[in-house]
Amino acid sequence: MRNGEVSYWWRALGGFPPRRASLPGPTEADVCIVGAGYTGLWTAYYLAGLRPQARIVVLEAAFAGYGASGRNGGWVTSELPGSRAVYARGPRGAAGVRDLEAELRSTVDEVGRVCETESIDCDFVRGGRLSVATSPAQLARLRAALAQLRAWGDGDDVYTFLSRDETSERINVAGALGGLYAPDSARVQPAALAAGLAAAAERRGVTIYEATPATEIVPVGAGTAGGAGAPGGAGGVARTVFGDVRARSVLRCTEGFTAGLPGSRRALLPMNSSMVVTEPLPAAAWKQIGWDGFETLSDEAHAYVYAQRTADGRIAIGGRGVPYRFGSAVDHLGATQPPTIAALSGVVRRMFPAVGDVRLDHAWCGVLGVPRDWCASVTYDPPSRLGWAGGYTGHGVAAANLAGRTLADLVAGEPSPLTSLPWVGHRSRAWEPEPARWAGVHGLYALYRLADRLEAPSADRGGQARVMLGEALGRAGDVVSGIPH
Ligand SMILES: Cc1cc2nc3c(=O)[nH]c(=O)nc-3n(C[C@H](O)[C@H](O)[C@H](O)COP(=O)(O)OP(=O)(O)OC[C@H]3O[C@@H](n4cnc5c(N)ncnc54)[C@H](O)[C@@H]3O)c2cc1C
Repeated sequence: MRNGEVSYWWRALGGFPPRRASLPGPTEADVCIVGAGYTGLWTAYYLAGLRPQARIVVLEAAFAGYGASGRNGGWVTSELPGSRAVYARGPRGAAGVRDLEAELRSTVDEVGRVCETESIDCDFVRGGRLSVATSPAQLARLRAALAQLRAWGDGDDVYTFLSRDETSERINVAGALGGLYAPDSARVQPAALAAGLAAAAERRGVTIYEATPATEIVPVGAGTAGGAGAPGGAGGVARTVFGDVRARSVLRCTEGFTAGLPGSRRALLPMNSSMVVTEPLPAAAWKQIGWDGFETLSDEAHAYVYAQRTADGRIAIGGRGVPYRFGSAVDHLGATQPPTIAALSGVVRRMFPAVGDVRLDHAWCGVLGVPRDWCASVTYDPPSRLGWAGGYTGHGVAAANLAGRTLADLVAGEPSPLTSLPWVGHRSRAWEPEPARWAGVHGLYALYRLADRLEAPSADRGGQARVMLGEALGRAGDVVSGIPH
């Protein structure tokens, strides 16, 4: 079994893509985007559409799609990257949150639309998403979540409760007691989307420089030689070993890698997530499992798993594994820990006994960005013309498209319904310094796992202790992250 090599998704495309050139030397641009994941690439794509004459340069440390965008679960999900309650504290209150959620739902179609118009072949199937409860405690949590959704105004068209039989008719997950179905979700091959998007941005005139890490992003005049400005006065400088890029606007689109940039070390916590993919399943196994609608699938565990049926007949499934590396360290080329692989292997076989002795083919991991209050942000400061977007807390595939469109409008100076959404300009406080950061995240996940073990149908512990721990975790989740878990 392979471990690392960035991801199975890249391997399935034939390995790492041909490398684009590095920055040739000091450069001037209208817009410099740091990071060629979905956020940076969507921003470049839409901005080039709005301002075809603009010189847009993207600096990428490795290659386009090297980060989470080339490694994720392939859920294009409309799920809110953050807490309704936190966003609702903004000036637009609950109405703003509803607008953000409506935009996220239509973003699923927008991603599909661009894939079609740009001929991005990334196995996009809008099959909805299914969350399955596999224990009484998970079912109770799912019902409670549904009650909250209904109270918020989400009707049957947004979330539908499925009985045990209705759930199994879609996907035959062993021990499923019920499910929650939401139609606004699609399945993609993530690396194919990233590669296709990079090519689409280039067709619009964007220049992507690879193997070009920015070592620092500073406002113009902040220690730049002579203080000379980018064209137009304000703006920023992205420093690299090949020279500076001076631009009217500089946008930081580095999500889980943000802690590597000076001045941003405690802005976003790099949360680790790991995935495994099986070998292709035989037709007989698929006959038992079903999954003909290609829904994105998750369970209701505290440390939940997420999965998809791939276009080439495999199950790809992910979960938290080791949640966080001390000092905001990131993985090396996506290699993940053997215990995590063993745990995910166990989950596959438990959820889908029909896989039999089908082997795992590949395992990998990556980092996603988590703000201290678990709420994403799209920020652009017109006076300095510096901006950034990210912190999608694991719901970043669709959100990065919406964030990219929003950043493009902000940079172009074109107010739109997107530029007043509640995540625009949202601020979250910095993460604690180490070792508190490491201890907090690991402590919380240890409790999640304990609760999941106690909730398992096979557990022989008393129900009341289980419920109390689950409730306590819900409150701890509120305190630690701002979201009920
Ligand atoms: C294993 C895993 C599974 C996930 N599953 C899902 C899912 O199914 N659905 C979902 O919605 N979300 C999922 N996510 C989250 C989602 O993938 C991310 O939120 C999203 O891809 C973030 O895109 P991005 O462009 O902001 O960041 P990234 O894709 O991480 O891109 C950042 C880029 O910046 C580059 N970079 C970093 N530092 C520098 C620098 N100093 N200079 C230049 N370049 C730099 C990196 O090399 C990288 O290419 C998952 C994440 C992981 C890790």
